[in-house]
Amino acid sequence: MKYIGAHVSAAGGVENAPIRAHEIGATAFAFFTKNQRQWKAKPLTEQSIEQFKINCDTYGYQPHQILPHDSYLINLGHPNPEKRQKSLDAFIDELQRCEQLGLTLLNFHPGSHLREISEGQCLDYIAESINTALDQTRGVTAVIENTAGQGSNLGYKHEQLAYLIDKVEDKTRIGVCFDTCHAYAAGYDLKMDYQGVMNDFEQTIGFEYLKGMHLNDSKAVLGQRLDRHHSLGEGEIGWPFFQQLMSDPRIDNIPMTLETIDMTIWPEEIKQLKKFLLQSTTS
Ligand SMILES: [Zn+2]
Ligand SMILES: [Zn+2]
Repeated sequence: MKYIGAHVSAAGGVENAPIRAHEIGATAFAFFTKNQRQWKAKPLTEQSIEQFKINCDTYGYQPHQILPHDSYLINLGHPNPEKRQKSLDAFIDELQRCEQLGLTLLNFHPGSHLREISEGQCLDYIAESINTALDQTRGVTAVIENTAGQGSNLGYKHEQLAYLIDKVEDKTRIGVCFDTCHAYAAGYDLKMDYQGVMNDFEQTIGFEYLKGMHLNDSKAVLGQRLDRHHSLGEGEIGWPFFQQLMSDPRIDNIPMTLETIDMTIWPEEIKQLKKFLLQSTTS
């Protein structure tokens, strides 16, 4: 089974996210449990939590179809100890919000060294932060997203993600979210070498750790290390990759969500992906 959706708005309350996902024909969704550009957020109200659960139930979304995304401000590998702690506190709060909503996954970007420390030192700080956060929370898996490697962002190589997983003590609560735009921009040639990239993922990380995917085309060219999403088929990657992905049996039972730039065409993009899926299962 493949669950396909988009990163929907939670404006007006988290309980609106499953409604919006249903409206675009999604079988999976991503959302922010708080404003992604602010540090502080009001706690979720009992009413909001209850209604979120009811709406997920009504429209048939189970926790393994839902991949919340954390705030863009969080940097678990920040070179400055106070700022790293501030990020860690915010990350723990995000995990707890997911816990309250009955969710089991939280997607986050690994972190940035800001050219002040080495990549290795930054990765060690990130792993340390993840271990502390998992230790202080229950039931939610931390899902590391691969990045385009823009600026000083880490997580642009499978080896870096594998290094983090290796350093995390509780292997049952760590996973990876594979963003197709980020991978391509980071130099993984999804267009010309689908099997090569996926085999490298399997050997370096392992599909057992794949907990979600972000389905995006890329405005940036291969290896340009710029994070520029595009609508499916409009960018450098193109439709054939997404068609191949829909027929890959190694990638199943995880939320696959669009973060493409034109939300007005999300229903069509989802419809096309579902069409590929149907073709692959009936051929
Ligand atoms: Zn992301
Ligand atoms: Zn993404």
